[in-house]
Formats: sequence, structure tokens, C-alpha cells
Amino acid sequence: MFYSHSDLDRLDHLRADKTAISNFWSNPQTRVIPLWQNKVLVERKSPAAPKACSLPVSSLPESAQNRTFLGFDGSNHWFAAELDKQQPRLDTLLQDSAHDAAVSEFEDLRVAGPLLPATEGSLLVYARAINIWQNNSHFCSRCGHPAKLGNAGHLRTCSHSDCGYMIFPRTDPAVIMLVVDGNDNSRCLMGRNKAWPSGVFSTLAGFVEAGETLENAVAREVQEETGVRVDEIQYVASQPWPFPRSIMLGFKAIARSTELDINQDELDDARWFTREEMRTFGDWGEESERLKLPRPDSIARYLIDSWLAEETS
Ligand SMILES: [Zn+2]
Repeated sequence: MFYSHSDLDRLDHLRADKTAISNFWSNPQTRVIPLWQNKVLVERKSPAAPKACSLPVSSLPESAQNRTFLGFDGSNHWFAAELDKQQPRLDTLLQDSAHDAAVSEFEDLRVAGPLLPATEGSLLVYARAINIWQNNSHFCSRCGHPAKLGNAGHLRTCSHSDCGYMIFPRTDPAVIMLVVDGNDNSRCLMGRNKAWPSGVFSTLAGFVEAGETLENAVAREVQEETGVRVDEIQYVASQPWPFPRSIMLGFKAIARSTELDINQDELDDARWFTREEMRTFGDWGEESERLKLPRPDSIARYLIDSWLAEETS
């Protein structure tokens, strides 16, 4: 599954050790993932096979902020850092790095993500997730005073002496579920969000609410959106999805009713599809009149592909 192939040891026990973090930063072998306006730096020497760009600390401008220790991969220590929001000069930035400024650009990770090598995609997802949290947590959520970044980028602490509230990186849990027909597992339920490109159908999904189990959330979302009742809800896999700050928790659920009552406020459409029908779907991004599958890097696609690979029972 995409974005789940990190081989990084996060060394979280060293984040508060300023000497250790400073030594990692000073090591000439250390690499930095640059972030700029929520984008990541990608080299497209081969357009269909982009590579994530990382820099030595020496190439990083002094103005870089939010220096964050990510971990150690067995060879190099890795950091993320955010560049000044003014357009950086890539030729200077990429000096001494192994990347070619002529074919390197800051891109939305959602564009390059599906094409990146697995470990690079996972590293960029990590860097993006922590950076988005840093940029959305400048103030204490309890008293409103500014909150200072510490623990090598992984903690904010309220600056007000009477408060001192600690704010940790936040991830919003969302459930995403492949619902199959309980009669014979021959069909699955797909929905269409109004905001998606024409023809795209995907698994149903929704955010977990306060005071609710994951299984509650799966059953509630399916019923709210389509009127279908489900049980035998089983966890399958998870995927970090920092767009902007979710973790997708993937489930399979068995439908005990199949009649659809589509909530038009939430979905544009929902339908049952057989495997044969879904195998005729086009790819995400394809310009055609066909119905299309969700993004190739999504857990939705993983759930669908896993179901398509099952023997029809
Ligand atoms: Zn506070």
C-alpha cells in the first residue's frame, strides 16, 4: 500500500535531547526534505518516474524554519524544513545535491505521490503531515496564547506561564469501507462524491465522531449515505493521508440490506457493482466517458483491488 513503506527509525526518545539533535543536524551525511507552501520538491528527469529531492544541510537557506527531526534510515539522519514562502531559487537550493534544478519543481504531493518509489512517498507523507500540523497550531488551543515549537519539531508548548499546555501533532481518524453484498459477495457498494472528477466511484468513507467506536462510525456512515445496514465489520489496513491530516482506517463490512436510499447531501450517486463491471472501469485521471477507479495511491483502491483479486464465492 502506498505511503506505508517507511523504514525510518524515528528515534523519538532523542527528540528532546538538544545535543543529539544538533549533532545529527551537523552531520554532513544528514539529508533534509524541503517543504514550500505545502509542496514537496520532486525531480522529474524521467517524467513518469519522479524522485523525491532531498538536500544536504549546507544547501538549506538560513531562513528555513520548522526544522524537524524525522529519523534515521540506517545510513542517514533525516530532517524536514520549511522554506521561506517567497519562491526559492532552485539552482541555489539544489547546489551540492544530486538533483537537477532544470527538471526539479515543488509539487503537490498528490500529483507525484502515486509515481514515487514507495519509501520516498512514505517519507514525504511524514514530512508533509508534521509540517501541516506545525502551520495549523501556532496558538494554544486552551488559552489562545502563542505556542512554541520544541522536541525537534514534534511538540508545541503554550508560552503563557500559567498554562503551559502541551500540543502534540494531531491526526484525524477517518474510516473507509468496502461494503459487499451479504448474499453472495458478488457485488460491492461504491459511491460518488460531487467534488470528484466525472465518472469516479470509490468506497464510502467518513470521519469518526467523538465518543464513537470505529465500527460504529463504519455502520453509521454507510447507513447515513446509502441507507444500507452493515455488520461483520472487519479491520483491513490503514494509511496516513495528510491531505490535510487524516489517517484512513480501512474496513470491510457485510451488507444486510441492499436497497439504496442515497443521501443527496453527501453523495452524488451510489451503486452496486459486480467484479466484472468494476474490471471495465478506467483509471483515475483518464479522459474518457468510462466509469473510473479512485486514485491509485489511495487505500480505497487497495480495498477495491483486494476484493477484485478474491475468488467469487
Ligand atoms: Zn495556553
